[in-house]
Amino acid sequence: MASTTPGLVCGHHHLYSSLARGMPAPPLQPTNFLEILQQVWWRLDTALDLEMIYWSAKLGAVEALMSGTTGIIDHHESPNAIEGSLDVIAQACSEVGVRVVCSYGVTDRHGSAAGRRGLEENRRFIASGGRGMVGVHAAFTCSDELLESASGLANDLGVGVHIHVAEGIDDLAAGKRLEQLAQDDWLLVHCVHLDRELRGTIAHNPRSNMNNGVGYAHPSRRANKIILGTDGIGADMLEEMRLAYVAYRADEVTLSPDLAWSWLENGYDFIPECRDDQVTWNYDHSDSPWHVAFTPGIRAINVRSAEGEELLHDGLPTLVDLHEIRSKASEAAIRLFAKL
Ligand SMILES: [Zn+2]
Repeated sequence: MASTTPGLVCGHHHLYSSLARGMPAPPLQPTNFLEILQQVWWRLDTALDLEMIYWSAKLGAVEALMSGTTGIIDHHESPNAIEGSLDVIAQACSEVGVRVVCSYGVTDRHGSAAGRRGLEENRRFIASGGRGMVGVHAAFTCSDELLESASGLANDLGVGVHIHVAEGIDDLAAGKRLEQLAQDDWLLVHCVHLDRELRGTIAHNPRSNMNNGVGYAHPSRRANKIILGTDGIGADMLEEMRLAYVAYRADEVTLSPDLAWSWLENGYDFIPECRDDQVTWNYDHSDSPWHVAFTPGIRAINVRSAEGEELLHDGLPTLVDLHEIRSKASEAAIRLFAKL
């Protein structure tokens, strides 16, 4: 028996990380969150070129679609391929039929000139009609000047800022530094160690937080609206919802699956059209939080977009060739790993 839901939204993704699976181990074993960034992600992102970004995004988008996820809020960084990177991601998603909100995560990690180039990529993409938010990596890798410029640019463009906030203890000062800048349309990612109230929606990423050992974010204690993201570990949002549920049950056993379900639905604030996409699942209670929380492995069978186009048929994408994407992505991954 099948049942349907609207398309799901991944509230925080890094499509550039789709190729990272199986990457060579770093030279030194990372022992904390900052070392994971330094030795894994900041080595990976500097090695990316536009071709790798394209196949990584396309693989991530098609895997999202096969999980019933029709909208992605993406956060991208590729310091040696900044210009045009957001177009490449938007193009790859569009070819698959997945909606995407793009942002380039600016940082002063590679000098203030690279920070300005990142800002310009956000500006160029959004001003030319691209769907995006102004991306910021995190306060702890940005000067006050860059944070203020990003905030000002977002105001000028009429969009929010998409920023990692207090993910690890290294970013403890984020609350104080962002307090005067954050607006209601900001997307604050993680907020595990945020020490005060900040305006904006919080993207909660339970699997990533566990994977990085940064601690539990206690999203149910926040006054902010909460959405769910994967932080680059796929885009299976029913799976992330299940994990969000058991993560808060481990902390507070009275909370129900309805809460995690509401966090999934809050994603429509950012990509409302997904509410009119239709996903048919291989399970007859896919619209019931209490069923979904206790039914691992529910799969999307068909996806029809709000515009009436069939995007997924019998579990396979219709607009693109899955085998071609996997094989091209695997070639790009070999090139990427060789550079690491
Ligand atoms: Zn992230």
